Amino acid sequence: MTVELISVGTELLLGNIVNTNAAYLSQKCAALGLSCYHQSVVGDNEERLTEAVRLALQRSDILILSGGLGPTKDDLTKEVTAKVFGKELYEDSHTKERIEEYFRRVHSDQVTPNNWKQAQVPQGAKVIDNHNGTAPGLILEENGKTVILLPGPPNEIVPMFERDVAPYLNGMQPEGIYSKMVKICSIGESKAETMIADLMDAQTNPTIAPYAKTGEVHLRVTAKAAGGEEAERLIAPVMDELFRRFGDNIYTTEEEVTLEGAIVNLLKEEKMTVTTAESCTGGLLAGRIMNVAGASDVYREGYITYSNDAKERLLGVSRDTLEEYGAVSRQTACEMAEGAARAAGADAALSVTGIAGPGGGTKDKPVGLVYVGCCVKGQTCAKEFYFTGNRDKNREFAVARALTFLREELIKIRKR
Ligand code: ATP
Repeated sequence: MTVELISVGTELLLGNIVNTNAAYLSQKCAALGLSCYHQSVVGDNEERLTEAVRLALQRSDILILSGGLGPTKDDLTKEVTAKVFGKELYEDSHTKERIEEYFRRVHSDQVTPNNWKQAQVPQGAKVIDNHNGTAPGLILEENGKTVILLPGPPNEIVPMFERDVAPYLNGMQPEGIYSKMVKICSIGESKAETMIADLMDAQTNPTIAPYAKTGEVHLRVTAKAAGGEEAERLIAPVMDELFRRFGDNIYTTEEEVTLEGAIVNLLKEEKMTVTTAESCTGGLLAGRIMNVAGASDVYREGYITYSNDAKERLLGVSRDTLEEYGAVSRQTACEMAEGAARAAGADAALSVTGIAGPGGGTKDKPVGLVYVGCCVKGQTCAKEFYFTGNRDKNREFAVARALTFLREELIKIRKR
């Protein structure tokens, strides 16, 4: 089955907002086994939106439109779609009550008459309740085509898609789509792909799709099957094979677990605490760890030591080391990690020192050079990296590599 996405909104065309809904919906549709060959962005214009819907109906089985379901005059998505299908709009009492209830819940007295425009639905449409806003989602099925209208705000469309639209789309297909995620670190994208090239060449059902993330590779194993048990039977041998090839480098098979989440779990299991000492990443590394709910069990305090003085004063990095090797050096990274572990009384410490750019690079120490130090239970080592991105990317990569480094050291301890 083919799906086509139409994102509605002039602000998308002007570049005022990034079309994250399209990226989200594309990924979700691919995971559901739907083929997406066309996407478009249309402004809040009746004629052009009508044209886009008509064209999409000629070439795709399912249309998903996002945005333009709001209460104002320029929100046209529902009106245009109803017109294309020759459907009248009527006031849906359930939706009206839900909108009233929504305003009560958020204690808003801001209801204006145009809010009731959102209770208008095309005849024959299925209504999807919006639990995070006022505009309902709508599904129209006509002449073998399905049109799904979803609200624009990401905090509304995402939960609505997860809760109602994904199961609906799954149910439309003769076979369901089941997938498992394998998240890998410590191995680059091209190496990971080479390691499974034979599996990918031979794949039919299930399939393996690699996705490169910053410092990680994710593999999605997807099976088409009549039911969960059959899917399990098809997917299990592929998972076994992936574990055989990637071993410890697989940090999770849970969709929602992040690298930092897996590390916090490892630290909890080992009953260890961790701290961070950051220079060029200025708190990004600590921030990633603190993204994890419950990180306070393993992380108490950390250090941002941008200047040499701070490195000396807070972490006890020796002036001789800074003078002889420089702030961006393997030796400084090691002393930063050791000093942080000591100062925080933590079992483990990660340090990052580097040249994020755009300025500050020299021939010997170019932009993108980063040292990461890792001290675990008194054993310290450091790694050198050369990143080739801009300032933001270099800092992001440094954080990802630092987390991976800590995980590698924790796994070594576990094996001892
Ligand atoms: P509402 O439910 O608030 O009435 P709506 O369905 O009318 O929303 P729009 O008015 O088109 O949606 O967009 C509302 C907001 O949602 C935008 O200002 C923007 O912040 C966000 N938004 C809309 N479309 C997208 C998109 N494609 N990607 C990311 N964000 C979007």
